[in-house]
Formats: sequence, C-alpha cells, structure tokens
Amino acid sequence: MANVGDVFKPGQEVPHSGIYRVVHDTVHHDEHEVTCVYGEHFPPCNHCGEHPRFILEHIAIHVKWHKHFKKD
Ligand SMILES: [Zn+2]
Repeated sequence: MANVGDVFKPGQEVPHSGIYRVVHDTVHHDEHEVTCVYGEHFPPCNHCGEHPRFILEHIAIHVKWHKHFKKD
C-alpha cells in the first residue's frame, strides 16, 4: 500500500486513484497536479521522457469502485 508523499516513476502501476503532483525537469514545466487511476501506469512525458516523478498527494477512490456506486 502506498501513502501520501510516496514517489512514483513512469511505467510503475498507479497504487491508488487520486491526485498526484508531477515534477518534470524544471526547464520545460513547473510542478502541476493530475488525476491518476488505480491499475493504470504512470506515463512518460512527451517532453522530458522518463524524468517526471509522481507524488501521491490525495487518495480518492474512483467512483465506480466505491461501495455505494459499484455494480456487481
Ligand atoms: Zn516533462
């Protein structure tokens, strides 16, 4: 299980859906936030390749997996 503050690289599997802060090489883009979805893989950047680091900021389960909304 991952915790807030853990750092991930492109190619790794997303451990929790939620908000991640992305750090690129600082020349082409400042830090920003993205939503990543559990089970997908963190992508490489079109500009700095394998450089970005994804830092888990806020875990938020995807609505379709939430117990009050999921279909089984
Ligand atoms: Zn980049």
